[in-house]
Amino acid sequence: MQSQIKSILKKYFGYEEFREGQKEVIESIVKGQDTLAIMPTGAGKSLCYQVPALALEGVTIVISPLISLMKDQVDALNNMEIKATYINSTLSNSEIQEIICNAKNQEYKLIYVAPERLDSSEFVEFLRKTNISLLAIDEAHCVSQWGHDFRPSYKRINRVIPKLGKRPIIAAFTATATKEVRSDIQNLLGFNRPNVYVTGFDRKNLSFYVIHGENKRDFIFSYLEDKRGETGIIYTATRREAESLYNKLREKGYKASLYHGGLNEQERTQAQEDFSYDYTDVIVATNAFGMGIDKSNVRYVIHHNMPKNLESYYQEAGRAGRDGEPSECILLFNPQDIQTQKYLIDETISSPERKSNEYKKLQEMIDYCHSSQCLRKYILEYFGEQNVSDFCGNCSNCIDDTELKEITELAQKIFSCIYRMRERFGTLMVAEVLRGSKNRKVLDFQLDKLSTYGIVKEYTIKEIQNIINRLVADGYLKLTEGRFPVVKLREKSLAVLKGQEQVWMKIRVNKKEKAQTANDLLPALKKIRKEISQRENIPPYIIFPDTTLREMSEYLPQNEEQLLAIKGVGESKLRKYGKLFLDAIQKYTEEKDIIIEEFQHEQPAVHKEEIGEKEEKIKSHIVSFNMYKDGKTIEEIIKERNLKRTTVENHLFQCALEGLDLNIEQFIPQEHKKDIFAAIEEIGAEKLKPIKEALPEEVSYLAIKAAIYMYNKG
Ligand code: ADP
Ligand code: MG
Ligand code: ZN
Repeated sequence: MQSQIKSILKKYFGYEEFREGQKEVIESIVKGQDTLAIMPTGAGKSLCYQVPALALEGVTIVISPLISLMKDQVDALNNMEIKATYINSTLSNSEIQEIICNAKNQEYKLIYVAPERLDSSEFVEFLRKTNISLLAIDEAHCVSQWGHDFRPSYKRINRVIPKLGKRPIIAAFTATATKEVRSDIQNLLGFNRPNVYVTGFDRKNLSFYVIHGENKRDFIFSYLEDKRGETGIIYTATRREAESLYNKLREKGYKASLYHGGLNEQERTQAQEDFSYDYTDVIVATNAFGMGIDKSNVRYVIHHNMPKNLESYYQEAGRAGRDGEPSECILLFNPQDIQTQKYLIDETISSPERKSNEYKKLQEMIDYCHSSQCLRKYILEYFGEQNVSDFCGNCSNCIDDTELKEITELAQKIFSCIYRMRERFGTLMVAEVLRGSKNRKVLDFQLDKLSTYGIVKEYTIKEIQNIINRLVADGYLKLTEGRFPVVKLREKSLAVLKGQEQVWMKIRVNKKEKAQTANDLLPALKKIRKEISQRENIPPYIIFPDTTLREMSEYLPQNEEQLLAIKGVGESKLRKYGKLFLDAIQKYTEEKDIIIEEFQHEQPAVHKEEIGEKEEKIKSHIVSFNMYKDGKTIEEIIKERNLKRTTVENHLFQCALEGLDLNIEQFIPQEHKKDIFAAIEEIGAEKLKPIKEALPEEVSYLAIKAAIYMYNKG
């Protein structure tokens, strides 16, 4: 069986390896077990039922909530010479009859249907007479009223199963991780003791950034300027914001689409298609856009506003980088967004129990924005993962090299002020009292009589409020739920007041490093893809995803066999498109006079002219890495590149995290090794500075980070 599914993967899909979780899920299904797979967006869930569909006798029925996407999915399968079709309301009755007739002659391995189709007794009758091996339920969270995509027809699935001739294998797929939704899925879909697989929620190719205090428009314009020609999504909180940003982008000459619930169906379909087919580069949308979008080459997702909870955020941000290529998820934070979300909760939810649940989730979202710990760690722990490393090296907090500052005394002042105000006020009032404001409300409540009145003069009210928010995010304080939250002390703050614990905080600066390696061949390959796309009327990414083109441009395959070794090239695509791409590659190598000594899949061919002069196109940390590998010392790299020590150290460390060949242990000086580990053991691996203080001066931050990395790995 193993070799069979592996060969299906290679033959049809052109992939050499399964991604995390896929193999287990597929094997479970093929063995005949009901199976529930919970995997993050972009993990590759479709393949988990498509491969079994080919391995099993009979037909696989796929229930999928979005008819707009069925066509693309089916086109993609047909393009790989897998027999598939769909039945939904976009087809006429006679078309449906024809499909059903073909299906009876076993013409298809997969049939996609919308859940509402199960309401038709005629259709159920057809199912009853058909040899169905597998019933695959995609986006299974739609069965739950707790989720945001509830579809009543999903509840019908459970009732249809007993009506089928023989009970098929049931497999369901979702990216939703919340407890309520998971248990609904398990209970409502008619499973028979399913195998449940939950893969890690980490998406290593995504970088996470929270950007504070920047003008959102300015940020977006300058960001997009850097990303011209690349594909991205910008989410806004409201339709109005979406429209106005969209208009601005068009004015500036960007190829942009607009998508929100206020547009009519035709406008929405048009927007989605333009985006899918690469006619537009960026789509400005509300959260109405997205479920099941499977465009694989989305390079960035910007949130113009903070979403209502981390589930929504991770799902929306997760639409970046499905192809596994580095992609960026950026959240533009503005405290005003908190008010908008609270307003929405108040307006749209009536049950007090659910309201309080939503407030709680919102607070966790706010904490994410204020947190100074690793953002990836924050997300993964939110979704219940354990033993997550403290440094991912790939989020705005990890690459932020500003130093931690000890602010214990300031924190004590804040805590004591909150205490004296009897924990009855919000952050603004606390900040006003600390700053000594003569605001009416302060005077009315006689808060100017408190001993903590006016004891923090060196910060503005806004800054104090910010620090309080960060103290909330770091667990020293808590905010009550509701629209006008009150700050309260927690055990951790009491420990600080008693002088038992210190408080450290990063003073933030925002900066980003950019750059991608690229060569001249890639645009040429994209152009060919676009031509095919227009000729055959299928979206470009269905022909070949960006990753595949990128690999071609790096490995420069010279014949069919070599082309087949490229990820994403299967036999049918080789036949259909192979020659076009091989010709282009050949032309390129001849023009550039590139010597291909021997095609080795492990090692990109070297583009001669790329070395040296194109350095700025290579990611900065990779440049440092290359210098280091060439035998330069860290000191020499600092000098030559005119960078700060922490920057270079972080570069190398990040390379190690990304799996480049670099021995992390070598950064830990032998003579201090024992002490460093002892310090981590004692102080904990959360904060660097206290560990640094506890060790001799000459032990560097890098050494400590490296040790924490080793320590967490166990
Ligand atoms: P999900 O439904 O989990 O969000 P998809 O099924 O849409 O994700 O897959 C996302 C992308 O990953 C697709 O472009 C798909 O071709 C690609 N993919 C899936 N499995 C593999 C694999 N084993 N190797 C490489 N790419 C894969
Ligand atoms: Mg999917
Ligand atoms: Zn991180």
